[in-house]
Amino acid sequence: MLTVDQFNFKGEKALIRVDFNVPLDAEYTIKDDSRIKAAVPTIQKILNDGGACILMSHLGRPKEGPTEKYSLKHIVQRVQDLTGAKVHFAADCMGEAALKLSAELPAGEILLLENLRFYKEEEKGDQAFAEKLAQYGSFYVNDAFGTAHRAHASTAVVAQFFKGKKCFGYVMANELANADKVIKSPERPFTAIVGGAKVSDKLLIIENLMSIANNIIIGGGMAYTFAKAQGGQIGKSLCEDDRMPLTLELIEKAKAKGVNLYLPVDSKIADNFSNDANTAFANNDQIASDFMGLDIGPKAIATFCDVIKQSKTVLWNGPMGVFEMSQFEQGTKAVAEAVVAMTQSGGFSLIGGGDSAAAIHQFGFADEVSYVSTGGGALLEYFEGKELPGVKAILD
Ligand code: AMP
Repeated sequence: MLTVDQFNFKGEKALIRVDFNVPLDAEYTIKDDSRIKAAVPTIQKILNDGGACILMSHLGRPKEGPTEKYSLKHIVQRVQDLTGAKVHFAADCMGEAALKLSAELPAGEILLLENLRFYKEEEKGDQAFAEKLAQYGSFYVNDAFGTAHRAHASTAVVAQFFKGKKCFGYVMANELANADKVIKSPERPFTAIVGGAKVSDKLLIIENLMSIANNIIIGGGMAYTFAKAQGGQIGKSLCEDDRMPLTLELIEKAKAKGVNLYLPVDSKIADNFSNDANTAFANNDQIASDFMGLDIGPKAIATFCDVIKQSKTVLWNGPMGVFEMSQFEQGTKAVAEAVVAMTQSGGFSLIGGGDSAAAIHQFGFADEVSYVSTGGGALLEYFEGKELPGVKAILD
């Protein structure tokens, strides 16, 4: 893989797309700086070589141009503390002032540009905007996996201006290496666990995994569309009626491909969507009309955990139930424990970003699995078999 390790940055000005989209509280204090910490090794490698770094990122989703709440000036001090280097700030990512700061930036120092998304051109992938960004650096590094699935100006378009002088940073390289380990050379049996609210969001990934995985476990709200399509009574559970035929096709496809598709046989059901609801257990085809399934039940937990513990590779994307409520976290927690157990027995486990990463952190298991991805959407698209624009632009 083409990483910063293959280059010497002495005398270079590295324009680095980082993901500094960190959560801030009402006083603009950083609540979690792990994304900044993650970028430090790439920055330090370049500075240690004798280069300078121009960092660019987005923060939040500003709608109307510059907004105090989304200013990257709030994180300048933390970048300085974590890198130990002097950090300059360009209060506008466009214009003469930023150009002058980058031109005068000495080796060993950092320039942080203001939020790229203060310009709508960033998300539009605007060519002229990307060309202006390109003027700040002599070398382009993409280290923002979380936005690699977007063809934005700073993630994909800008790369064309750096022929032969572009590569991945360590965060990006690490994410891709872990994903490739699962997609390209999984030790078998390989089990994919797919959960979450809607089947429509996960159809493509399930379909693509059919060609790679030995076992596919389905949990969460999406399981009820499968259950209803098979003639089950699912009460008030989540269901996408228009997707029912597709779930039947997936069941048939799994059979044809020899993939074991595990659907939950039972659920913890509730009389409303609340942690205080009255609850019971029921088989997934016999949920009473005034109840809804909010977690997998004990029989499903036993089967799923058994399959997981016998696996050598596990990919997990999406919770088994409404894990944010303590009454309905049990299924997700049990699956997390089984993933930890298979990892301890020498297996490889990759937790896909978003809600599965949140669940793993909530249960305190983040250090007991092989890898927790930082990129929800990007990882999902990678497993759907799509080419990520941010990756392709480096390889072109
Ligand atoms: P996703 O973003 O598609 O991965 O879905 C994650 C969300 O699905 C979480 O917020 C869960 O609370 C929710 N979820 C999981 N299982 C269910 C369920 N049985 N009913 C309703 N929501 C669910």
